[in-house]
Order: sequence, then C-alpha cells, then structure tokens
Amino acid sequence: MSILVVGSVAYDGIKSPAGSVDRCLGGAATYFSLAASYFTQVRIVAVVGEDFSKQDEDILRSHKVDTRGIEHTKGKSFFWRGEYGENLNEAKTLETQLNVFQSFNPQVPAEYLDSDYLFLANIDPVLQGDVRRQMDGRVKLVGGDTMNYWITDPNHRQNLLETLKGVDVLLINDTEAKLLAGETSVPRAVQKVLRMGPRALVIKHGEYGATVFFKEDEFGGGRHPFRAPALPMDEVRDPTGAGDSFAGGFMGYVASQKKLDRETFKRAMFYGGVMGSFAVERFGTERLQSLTREEIDARYQVFRELTHIG
Ligand code: AMP
Repeated sequence: MSILVVGSVAYDGIKSPAGSVDRCLGGAATYFSLAASYFTQVRIVAVVGEDFSKQDEDILRSHKVDTRGIEHTKGKSFFWRGEYGENLNEAKTLETQLNVFQSFNPQVPAEYLDSDYLFLANIDPVLQGDVRRQMDGRVKLVGGDTMNYWITDPNHRQNLLETLKGVDVLLINDTEAKLLAGETSVPRAVQKVLRMGPRALVIKHGEYGATVFFKEDEFGGGRHPFRAPALPMDEVRDPTGAGDSFAGGFMGYVASQKKLDRETFKRAMFYGGVMGSFAVERFGTERLQSLTREEIDARYQVFRELTHIG
C-alpha cells in the first residue's frame, strides 16, 4: 500500500523553553512522511527552492520516501518560524514565508497515480483541492489537515470548505474545530464539521490525547466516539510537527491494514499518539529519523497498558 502526501516541505526556526534552532528541516509533509514511512510506502508532492539541500532530501529517501514529486524551482523554500512558551500546546507563529509555494502548481507524477491513500497535509486548501482532483476516483481514503490561518482568513475559508467536501478523515485540534464550526463547544463543533464532508473527525487535544468521532453509519456503524490518551512525557523539547507526526502514524497504520473499519481507526489513534510522542522528544525531525519499528511497537504496548484493565 502507498500514501501520497501533499503539503509543505520547509525549513523551520524554532524556540521553546528547552532551546532553539535557527533553521532545520521541517514542513507538514516532511513530518507526516517520516512518521508514515515506518508503516507504508510514502510519496510526496511539494515544491522546494534552490536552498533545499541534497542532505535533507536524502533524509527522506533513506526512509524509502519517494521524492520524485518534489519539484525543485528557482527561489527559496517555505520558511516558518515559531515559538512556544510554557504552554507547549500552542505555537506562536512569528514568521511565515510561503516563498516557492506562492506560485506552486502541483502535478501528481504518473508514477504516483496508483496510490491507495491520499493525505492533504497543511498547506493552502487550493493546492490540497488541486491534488485531490487529480486523484479523484483513484484512492480508497483521503485524510486531511488544516490550520487556523486557512480557517479564519476570509480569502481562504471558502476554498477550505470546498476542499473539505472531498476529505474522508479530517485531523485537527480542538481550537481549530471550534473555529471551523463557529461553535464554542467541541461536541457541537463535531456535529457541524461532520456535515461539511468528512466521514470521521479526529480531534487532537494536545498533551491530553485525541478523540475520533464518526458520522453515523460510516465505517461499519456504531455511534460512539473513541478517546486515546497521550503518553505522559517527562520532557517535551519541541512540539513542532506533533500533529503531522500523529497524522503520519494514523494514516500509515490505516494504510498497512486490510480493513477500513472502526477497530482499525481505534488502533490507528494509538499509533498516531506514539509517533507524535516521539516527534516532540527532540528538535525538528531528529527523533523521527532514527526510530525502529521495535521502538514504535514497544511504545504502543505502553499505550495499551495505560488504557486497558486487567
Ligand atoms: P504542527 O506543529 O504539526 O502543526 O506543524 C508544524 C509544521 O507546519 C512546521 O514544520 C511548519 O513548517 C509547517 N507550517 C507552519 N505554517 C504553515 C502553513 N501556513 N502552511 C503549511 N505548513 C505550515
């Protein structure tokens, strides 16, 4: 099975109470790909500039991530700079330079057209929609992510609502869900978002875990949502990419399974939590680069023990 992901491949500058880095490999699609690469074959559609180093592309390739869909063009790569205070759940964006993404016209390479799964990582919803259309009728399941900026900016909101019609599983955090629905309570927001297109909605609660909600009669039926806790972490050094890594673990695990039912999604919630917890242990993508499947499965067991009785 293979997953095609479109999203930012970027350089980030990050400051947290544990330290800072001026520039490191980042981007939503990068975190997603590295996390998902431990479960399935990943293919990226993105654009980078002349400053994008061969070493950084090699990091992706060493995880068997197909980078043929990364277009190299004149100009500078996407750059994001953010800061975290004592509340590590919320990033303060200090700078966003879209650079080469501003005029990006994504083309899905012919070699990618047989991808089984699609993930629309955080990027302009117009670009997400573009790739979604190129994969129409070809994929089994479409996952998606977005952020405050696209939800609240009047120039982008309508495009986002259009793109959401083609997303099966949306993964966002509680604040984003409330903003998207224009509601102050999560349960009411969930009902509204599930009417916008997605058949399942994964709401991430930062250090408190995540909940998956289903539209009635979807994925085998049943009414109840499912909640997965987050692993209590001794030290969070850099929360950047936790959401994208959660999505990578979640979608990667789903893609590695035969059945697309609620039980698969429940286990995927744990694998999402596992990959998110690894991502935040070090700055940037460092920890995601050096994992083994054994380490991942050992942490999955810890999660199981955290929630199972007897
Ligand atoms: P997360 O911490 O999971 O929400 O994602 C952090 C990653 O998202 C960073 O590596 C950034 O490069 C990337 N990012 C930040 N803002 C944007 C944006 N407006 N569009 C696309 N990617 C972004």
